[in-house]
Amino acid sequence: MQYEVIVVGGGHAGVEASLAAARMGKKTLLLTILVDKIAAASCNPAIGGLAKGHLVKELDALGGQMALITDKVGLQFRILNASKGPAVRGSRAQIDMDQYAIEARNILFAQENLDILQELVLELVIENETIKGLKTNLGNIYTAEAVILTTGTFLNGLVHVGQSKLAAGRFNEMPAVELANQIRALGFEVSRLKTGTCPRLDGSTIDFDKLERQENEEHPKPFSFRTAVNGFAPKQLPCYIGYTNTTTHQIISDNFHQAPLFSGQIEGVGPRYCPSVEDKINRFKDKDRHQLFIEPQTLDATEYYINGLSTSLPANIQQIMVNSIQGLEQAKIIRYGYAIEYDFVQPTELRHTLETKRIQNLYFAGQINGTTGYEEAAAQGFVAGVNAVLKLNDQSPFVLARNEAYIGVLIDDLVTKGTNEPYRMFTSRAEFRLLLREDNADRRLLEHAKRLGLIDKAYLEQTSKKDDLIKASLEDLEQSFLTPSKANLEFLDAIGEDRILEKTSLKNFMSRHHTNIVTLEALKPEFAKLDPAIKEQIVIDAKYDHYVKKQSQQVAQMQNYMKIKIPSDFVYQELIGLSSEALEKLEKVRPENLFAASQISGITPSTLDILYVKLHVNKKQNKNTIKKMRKLKAVNQSYA
Ligand code: FAD
Repeated sequence: MQYEVIVVGGGHAGVEASLAAARMGKKTLLLTILVDKIAAASCNPAIGGLAKGHLVKELDALGGQMALITDKVGLQFRILNASKGPAVRGSRAQIDMDQYAIEARNILFAQENLDILQELVLELVIENETIKGLKTNLGNIYTAEAVILTTGTFLNGLVHVGQSKLAAGRFNEMPAVELANQIRALGFEVSRLKTGTCPRLDGSTIDFDKLERQENEEHPKPFSFRTAVNGFAPKQLPCYIGYTNTTTHQIISDNFHQAPLFSGQIEGVGPRYCPSVEDKINRFKDKDRHQLFIEPQTLDATEYYINGLSTSLPANIQQIMVNSIQGLEQAKIIRYGYAIEYDFVQPTELRHTLETKRIQNLYFAGQINGTTGYEEAAAQGFVAGVNAVLKLNDQSPFVLARNEAYIGVLIDDLVTKGTNEPYRMFTSRAEFRLLLREDNADRRLLEHAKRLGLIDKAYLEQTSKKDDLIKASLEDLEQSFLTPSKANLEFLDAIGEDRILEKTSLKNFMSRHHTNIVTLEALKPEFAKLDPAIKEQIVIDAKYDHYVKKQSQQVAQMQNYMKIKIPSDFVYQELIGLSSEALEKLEKVRPENLFAASQISGITPSTLDILYVKLHVNKKQNKNTIKKMRKLKAVNQSYA
């Protein structure tokens, strides 16, 4: 059977990749091991979080599906860091994980140009270093012009519960062994990573009165820019907070010898910021408790997920450990926690489009690239799906720069730096984070969204109008002034603002720390009639104006360095004075331009000097550029 695009794997990356390819008009096939497990939440029943929320909003602004599904099946919507500045706030929603999967599956089933088949892919068919199709465990051969692998934790997956080992992609799901072996045989740089998950409890056996109740937000905000805010009233469920205690810790440390993590049974590297409870007890010996979030997995709240208690201890020890926690004394485990080790491909094997450098028209997206998280996976799936289509259409690629989107940061980090541990997104990874806020993702990515054509025109027009109105209002504020006249000073006293000493633009005035919509309306009564969301944006943009201008200068510098291209066949061996480490890294990554080279860890300013000189740029420019580059590199390092 013939397809234009085939996506292997129905996880969060596969969902977005197949929808993007089919919606862009390509005859697409999604092959996955179990159709029931499409869009499964392998771990926590939640979407978003700090920086991850940014990814979901950006994906939404470009035409992805994740935010829309979340709005339909969310159980609790929160804004994390709500008391901090807008740039570091993160949206997060608990989800009904069963409904999430059903909703995603139904959207895929209803999608024109998209076929879905439940088969295990065994082998890629490759001719002349170009992908031609693949073979499955049913003996079927499918041809395709482009193939996207989104195989998650399934490549040579190995599950651990105590000393029990199970070859599996997730608990009791078959692993992808043949495909994993072929990827190694093709010469891709493959290593092992690991992750883990927590036990799930029977909700009827939890004593919620002994736990702290975490209330819902009174006015939940939807994730998607395309979900109407008015009337958004999902049925929300509370989460609960509990704590481990010294007895729990004793149980765990008494059983370290049975934990695969310490017995040497696990080889892969785990996520540093999301450690197993065994790891936490071992590393933080002085702490007498660790916080746990007890979260409903579905709307009927039959099962609860204990966020913070990821473990691969033996099943009987897990039960004892759980029962040592206040509120969980009688709790029954329904699913045991486990750890999983799996193969991933070093993402420096990829271009920014997520196409592999080795095999033409073969793309990798999601956990296969060393990332962790649904959001990171979904974002990559989307980028791979879109780029596979654009390449087949002979159109220019879709690559987001670091100053345009967290998605750009994610992919740039992966393909230029690679990773040796599960990579998750953090706000600190984005050096231009003041530009990349959740709240402006729709306006920020509008031009890209228009180009891709994955969102209906009415929404895009509405967003264009919103953008125009905000810009015009800011211009208006910039052109309106307050003078320290008696009347104005009295007015400032009346609205509780500090007095001004000199003529000040209203835009400048609004950049004061505590100004808000009330201040805006007092200064500009005609703005009162604007939509509250627009007023909020005007306030934020006015506050950030100064910082944004500053970051925009750094962006301009970065763009200059990006213009200095490094030919793909550049002979690094000919550079004189490079350390062997620098040479090895440059050879491996083969950066596309000087900025990309500057982002590689361990590449020093002096290496960049040598590289730059070799690239024959004129002398005057040479001096300035190197100076600026050093400065930028220092700034970047301070964010790392
Ligand atoms: P997955 O969601 O894993 O989906 C892969 C899909 O590919 C599956 O549908 C599978 O059936 C299919 N597939 C694989 N091989 C083949 C083949 N050969 N043929 C056909 N289909 C195939 N993330 C966090 O952010 N925090 C955590 O704490 C966390 N803990 C985790 C714990 C566990 C035990 C697991 C398994 C995952 C955990 N994750 C965690 C990771 C999170 O689940 C993934 O990052 C995310 O689901 C990756 O999405 P993906 O689309 O890349 O792959």
